[in-house]
Amino acid sequence: MNENLSKDIRFLKGVGPQKAFKLKQAGILTIADLLLYIPRTYTEREYCGKIESMEPGKRYKILLQLKSIKQIFIKGRGRQLRAIFTDGNKEISAAWFNFQFWQLSRLQPGVKVLLEGELREYRNNLQLVHPAYEIVEEDISREETAEYEKGDDRIIPVYPLTAELNQNILRKLIRQAYQDYQEFISETLPAGILQKHLLLSLSDSIRILHFPQSLKEIETARKRLVFEELFYHQLMLARLYRKNSTDNNGISFEIKKKQTTRLKESLSFTLTTAQKRVLREIVADMESSRRMNRLLQGDVGSGKTIVALFAMLLAIENGYQAVMLVPTEILAKQHFQTITNLLADQPEIVISLLLGGKRKGSKEILKDIAAGVSRIIIGTHALLEQKVVFQRAGLVVIDEQQRFGVQQRAVLPARIGNPDILYLSATPIPRSLALTIYGDLDISVLDELPPFRKPVVTTQKTADRKGEVYQKIPGYIRQGKQIYMVCPLISETEKLDLLDAERLFRYLKDDVFPGYRIDLIHSRMKSAEKEAVMQRFQQRKTDILVSTTVIEVGVDVPNASVMIIEHAERFGLSQLHQLRGRVGRGSDESCCFLIAYKPVSATARKRLKIMTETTDGFLIAEKDLEIRGPGEFFGTNQSGIPLFRFTDLREDLEILRLARAEAREIALKDHTFSEPENSIIREQFRRLYREKEKLFNY
Ligand code: ADP
Ligand code: MG
Repeated sequence: MNENLSKDIRFLKGVGPQKAFKLKQAGILTIADLLLYIPRTYTEREYCGKIESMEPGKRYKILLQLKSIKQIFIKGRGRQLRAIFTDGNKEISAAWFNFQFWQLSRLQPGVKVLLEGELREYRNNLQLVHPAYEIVEEDISREETAEYEKGDDRIIPVYPLTAELNQNILRKLIRQAYQDYQEFISETLPAGILQKHLLLSLSDSIRILHFPQSLKEIETARKRLVFEELFYHQLMLARLYRKNSTDNNGISFEIKKKQTTRLKESLSFTLTTAQKRVLREIVADMESSRRMNRLLQGDVGSGKTIVALFAMLLAIENGYQAVMLVPTEILAKQHFQTITNLLADQPEIVISLLLGGKRKGSKEILKDIAAGVSRIIIGTHALLEQKVVFQRAGLVVIDEQQRFGVQQRAVLPARIGNPDILYLSATPIPRSLALTIYGDLDISVLDELPPFRKPVVTTQKTADRKGEVYQKIPGYIRQGKQIYMVCPLISETEKLDLLDAERLFRYLKDDVFPGYRIDLIHSRMKSAEKEAVMQRFQQRKTDILVSTTVIEVGVDVPNASVMIIEHAERFGLSQLHQLRGRVGRGSDESCCFLIAYKPVSATARKRLKIMTETTDGFLIAEKDLEIRGPGEFFGTNQSGIPLFRFTDLREDLEILRLARAEAREIALKDHTFSEPENSIIREQFRRLYREKEKLFNY
């Protein structure tokens, strides 16, 4: 893009202060913005001379004679101009709202008018709705009429509109902008990349998107813009990746087959194919002199812990400490227990647990960490405090990494002395989002569950048949099973007539199952209280645990094998999946009941159906993305998903892969873009990230 294109939109012919204001409201500030204001869709215009062959739903351009015209008033909608046109044989009506009075004076019966607009069916009559029109001299000859009916602008762009702009204004201004400024559209991708990926030039793409000759070429042009957009986004992340993995030389771990092999021999199971593959990827990273920055994504129960433990032992057999950072105390304790059990055969490996606050024994633990007595250190945020000094940390495993902010993700490695890093995430997200958000990481996916796991049998019930589910509860409890009951809310609200956790708790305890041990947990309770409740549940002192979504994260109670979700229609797909992940963790057959209250929207029905059909978290995440779209996927704006202008992450995964690979290659070879063939990239990168100066200093 040339500097001329950064000119204020006011400089465009035909744009006065008023139009400039309206354009700015639509986010169009410069000429470039206007040229890149890409149509939302296209319609095909039919040329036709005869009313007879016209069909509703299409756009037409047609020359007709005005037969009669009048103003009418419609209650609630105001004035309307209604006209009848004829082609000498048949008649058709046209309607305009918000017309100007001067229009009337020129539209005298008998004039010939070239009309253009969409044809709709209106009370059994065909009507051109608010057509654009042009009055044609009365003595127009047949040949000239034919001229009007040809034309080459058959495919018409339809632009996204904001309140004050209409299609005609936009089309006109964009045509003007293209005419006056096309010569200044300079290329933003190097010729080598265009050739390699068979991409159109920027200038051609812009022309095609606004003035297409065929629908096919539109897609090719769009692809080019998508590639460019994703490429520069990935390039920014790829430079971060390069910096993180090559600065401050990483450690080249060696496979010594000591502690790792002993762990392998002590396991009562063999690793799944997915676990082996992922472990190979991790070991390759650790062996190389580049620092590892790898994300291991795997659904709940896919066996991430054991994979992480192998990596930790590889660090340990090379004389380093391994650190595991965990978001909550419950989880930290749980991991400490699991890892202690898995390493029962290797008691010489000292495992330390560091939690926050003033605790007995903290001082000794800190001493052990600093002296190198502790080989594995598991802990919460407390690990990040200044007073924690590691003797020689070689690997950090960060569990549930999405619960640590991006900030912490950036600070941590330096804090601990730039070790290799393995991030774990139990939240399956669609591939395209993962590649976008974690562009600065390598990604491994555990897409296979250990064989003994039985999928959770999921059933959907409407609230009026809830009794059928409740009837089964005594049977489950007799079998020694524990039950989760989940509600969307904590306590009664006036606005919504929803079942809340407190009400359900009292109702079950007092009225339905007074003989059972029922407990309640929700986010407004103090954390000590919550822990006590969870502990009772873990120790099988509770039959039914009524809760809100607080149980979504991490807690592992294998004996809880039944889940009942009230108001399941209110939860998102990913959330339902996370909740359901609390059961199906033991050897018992598990089940989940989704109770839906009317009215259930069409989307909610779709979600519930998917839940009953699959337990594959990655598939569910893809469906969730399909239904909600990228912006809504995480429900917040802090997800790290940029607002792309041309890209639809639901459709453009292939382009994303190509753009990512290309960006990585360039960032690793020439991250300052000093090679002559990268000069265009250098310029464009600077332009795009001008405000974010920091990004340059990698
Ligand atoms: P995640 O951390 O991914 O949720 P875990 O590592 O806690 O999963 O594994 C869940 C359970 O499955 C654990 O009890 C673990 O010992 C067991 N497990 C892991 N890998 C295998 C395997 N390959 N075969 C059988 N059981 C496995
Ligand atoms: Mg390494």
